[in-house]
Amino acid sequence: MRFEGLLLHPIGKTGSPLEILIVSAVLAVNLGFLTAISTDVRPPISAYLNVPHAVALRSGYMALAQAPAVFALTGRNTLVQLLTGVDYQHLRFVHKTLGATWFLLALVHWLGMTLSSLSWSGTAGVAGLYSLDIVPFGILTLVGLSTSVTSSLWLVRRYAYEAFVVFHLIGALVILVGVFYHAEPLRPYTYSAIALWSTERLLRLLRFATFPSILRLQPRSPIYKGTATLVHGAIILRVPNPSPWSPTQHCYLSFPDIPALFGQNHPFSVANVPSSNGSEASTMLFVMRVRGGMTRTLAQRLEKEADQSMQLLVGVEGAYGRPTEAKLFHDILLVAGGSGITHVMSLLDDVVHKAEARQSRTARIHLIWVIQHAEQASWLVSSLLAAIKRSEQVGIALTISLYLTRGSLAPSSRSLPLGASLASSTSKDDGATAEAQTARSSLSSSELDHLMMHSAASSKVRIEMGRPVVGREVGSFVEGSSGRSLVVACGPVTLAEDVRGAVARLRTSHSVDLEVASYQA
Ligand SMILES: Cc1cc2nc3c(=O)[nH]c(=O)nc-3n(C[C@H](O)[C@H](O)[C@H](O)COP(=O)(O)OP(=O)(O)OC[C@H]3O[C@@H](n4cnc5c(N)ncnc54)[C@H](O)[C@@H]3O)c2cc1C
Repeated sequence: MRFEGLLLHPIGKTGSPLEILIVSAVLAVNLGFLTAISTDVRPPISAYLNVPHAVALRSGYMALAQAPAVFALTGRNTLVQLLTGVDYQHLRFVHKTLGATWFLLALVHWLGMTLSSLSWSGTAGVAGLYSLDIVPFGILTLVGLSTSVTSSLWLVRRYAYEAFVVFHLIGALVILVGVFYHAEPLRPYTYSAIALWSTERLLRLLRFATFPSILRLQPRSPIYKGTATLVHGAIILRVPNPSPWSPTQHCYLSFPDIPALFGQNHPFSVANVPSSNGSEASTMLFVMRVRGGMTRTLAQRLEKEADQSMQLLVGVEGAYGRPTEAKLFHDILLVAGGSGITHVMSLLDDVVHKAEARQSRTARIHLIWVIQHAEQASWLVSSLLAAIKRSEQVGIALTISLYLTRGSLAPSSRSLPLGASLASSTSKDDGATAEAQTARSSLSSSELDHLMMHSAASSKVRIEMGRPVVGREVGSFVEGSSGRSLVVACGPVTLAEDVRGAVARLRTSHSVDLEVASYQA
């Protein structure tokens, strides 16, 4: 489980108490060692024995002291994760903090060495310093560090993710070369960094390997044949027979068939859980919102197909992330914005599965899905309809509220008539199976209007225009709970913040847990 305790609950925009604690601890340790110890310089003071020079030297050593930890936390398959069980997404925060600290200390080291030479021996002193063989490699290390740090800034990751990946990697290699040649006594830092990084690569490789395949030196290929369909701004991808996964986990997907996407790996949450029956036993379902990079290239490729659907090879790396265990909760509120539906959908699927196997305590689930247009509901309409039918059979009261933030509905359209479509779409064992085939024709706003006005309305699904008043929705759900309740949110930052705030207000008076997932890189 990975529910948000108070330690993970962000305070405004400053980060969570745990994050603030980590940053403070890193600052305290480094500043402590830098100032309290290295300034203890006794006379006689000279060009090589004075406070600025001592601080500059010490900051160089402190900079390098970050190296093993930074490399130990590099990647998705670290030894640290293996030993502690802490998610790579959480460890990444420590990696970033220590990386930035390394860069700042290296900067202090460089400036300190230069300025202390200047103040004691003038420009001749600086020239003397820069004539040393080790200095160019020190500067190379600094170049590598600044490349790694600047390439990982939010703006770069947001608008040029692939550039971030390439420059971060180049920066890391430059750092290793720079440190290796900067001074011989520093070489163990390079060795330890290389050892830790290689271990991560090896652990990643082992994810793809079965024991017999290791003996044959043939790691199992993580490439499968999947079916992708373009549906109203998203790609619905189904990948049969990959390795097992759990609810709320995500995989890194690649598309070796498409040369323009060579070397790209993108994370996507699996929108279902393995079914325990039938031939669909292990078909992964992904909903990939079309953005501007890899997803756009893939969408353009699909647009060329007559039915906007094709079979293609899919590299599946994972599953990653600690699964959320929801079966112990009596009441579950799921709040999703846009493609965030995938995260909560797998949870819903899992709870219904467990209820069918009599392994769940859940009695009531409410799903709020905020989308722009009615058409987007078709991404997962079969799965939703199947979930409604199956939950009814196992006695779970499942209700769904769709909020449409754009477009329009006829004034009378406030609930989705599911009678006929429910029966037809759930005639198959697993709603996910029909997704790609039925999705495009399932809903459009005009069809929805028509259905709303002319069919018998179902009480299970409500459709509202605009955005939900999250505080009110969360409040009334939790207050109506007769046992322990769980709130799960996945979507835009503002939606997640609203849910966090609402749950925080209820925590003192109600037994409620919170899980907030984010698709931010
Ligand atoms: C754990 C996790 C689960 C996710 N699950 C889903 C899902 O189920 N459905 C869905 O539609 N989206 C999901 N996303 C978001 C999805 O990974 C990005 O939308 C996708 O990578 C965009 O690719 P692009 O090249 O088309 O985007 P771009 O237009 O290049 O970028 C759009 C956004 O995606 C981010 N992004 C781009 N490449 C990556 C990458 N390799 N890794 C991480 N972020 C990246 C960028 O920072 C930017 O914010 C998930 C993200 C994470 C971190």
